[in-house]
Amino acid sequence: MSKKIKQLRDDFPLLKKNNSKSLIYLDNTATTQKPKQVIDAMKDFLENENATVHRGIYGLSQKATSRCDDIRISIKDFINAKSENEIIFTKGATESINLVAHSYAYDNLEEGDEVIITEMEHHANIVPWQQVCNAKNANLIVLKISKKGEIDLENLKEKCNSKTKIVAITHISNVLGTINPLDQIIPYIRANTNAVILIDGAQAVGHKPIDLQKMDCDFYVFSAHKMYGPTGIGILYGKYELLEKMRPYQHGGDMIELVSFDKTTFAKPPARFEAGTPAIVEIIGLGASIDYLKQLNLDEINKYEKELLDYATEKLSQIKGLTIIGQSNNKGAIISFTLEGIHPHDIGQFLDEEGIAVRVGHHCAQPLMKIYNVPATVRASFSFYNNKDEIDALVESVKKLKGFFE
Ligand code: PMP
Repeated sequence: MSKKIKQLRDDFPLLKKNNSKSLIYLDNTATTQKPKQVIDAMKDFLENENATVHRGIYGLSQKATSRCDDIRISIKDFINAKSENEIIFTKGATESINLVAHSYAYDNLEEGDEVIITEMEHHANIVPWQQVCNAKNANLIVLKISKKGEIDLENLKEKCNSKTKIVAITHISNVLGTINPLDQIIPYIRANTNAVILIDGAQAVGHKPIDLQKMDCDFYVFSAHKMYGPTGIGILYGKYELLEKMRPYQHGGDMIELVSFDKTTFAKPPARFEAGTPAIVEIIGLGASIDYLKQLNLDEINKYEKELLDYATEKLSQIKGLTIIGQSNNKGAIISFTLEGIHPHDIGQFLDEEGIAVRVGHHCAQPLMKIYNVPATVRASFSFYNNKDEIDALVESVKKLKGFFE
């Protein structure tokens, strides 16, 4: 670990708190901890600058408005979108996908059309598509994954055709850790269909550099709370030429151009999709998390997190009866596992008593649990503030628990 990365942990107040034992936080896939820079930015805004946006001509409101506008530009730069007008503030990845399902899919799908997803999707990238397919008599097509947890590219080729209208795929699986080869998948879909492509980036942003102009998807979604920012705020990126043809998702203040009792005309994107007073404090927090990430070298962070993943994979694999679910060659720092004869919930509870926070359950991916024929898994997921000592502690605790059952 380089000295610089090691020092970053000091930015996270919760990780420094010491009761009798310090917390080993290995649930970064669910949500990340927050650096003091994010906490301070939100606190400072509330204490010194709080005002609503767009509505006031007084200085405080204008300042809040321009801060939110600047943050939109900062996000655009961070993910290399073409324009800040392609950046829409939502509640998070889930709302972003629902927005596209409602505003794009309901108007564009016809009977017999096909929407492609994969077996490794989070419920947030299954249920919205399933519901719109039901409503429009369209078909939900589910791409197969291999035992290792990789999308079967041959299956993708078989399933893409003239009826394919939407393809929605995760960038990184929140259960298997698989990083999908979007550099192969997206060009293939472009060359062989007229489908729009949505990528669920909830597990990717903050862990690796993102270049959306290079990726060339149509929509990309993510949540601030998984990238060191607050809950309640996330992003929908959409290509402007698509956004400007889409209907609003919600109606109300701030998203209109003109309103009379007879009719309403709508503002251009992004305002069209941001009805009501936005989550201003959370936007400030997201802006601070982006500033925080911008001063890091994300390639270096990615390399370090991969080092943690490789170390944990090697150590956990040595435990007899432990099976790692998801063995792709290209993985984010996420390990799901089961232990023969011990229910994942019992493992989670024992690890909690040892001061180690992991996630156990179906991870909002019930169909995937069925495919691997497991009721649940234990999931350990790492961030740049974790270290090998913490992985050693995890491994020792799992061994200790196993010992009780022998
Ligand atoms: N997609 C993936 C891959 C996720 O891991 C998650 C969160 N677990 C989501 C979507 C939904 O994110 P949120 O709950 O923040 O909307």
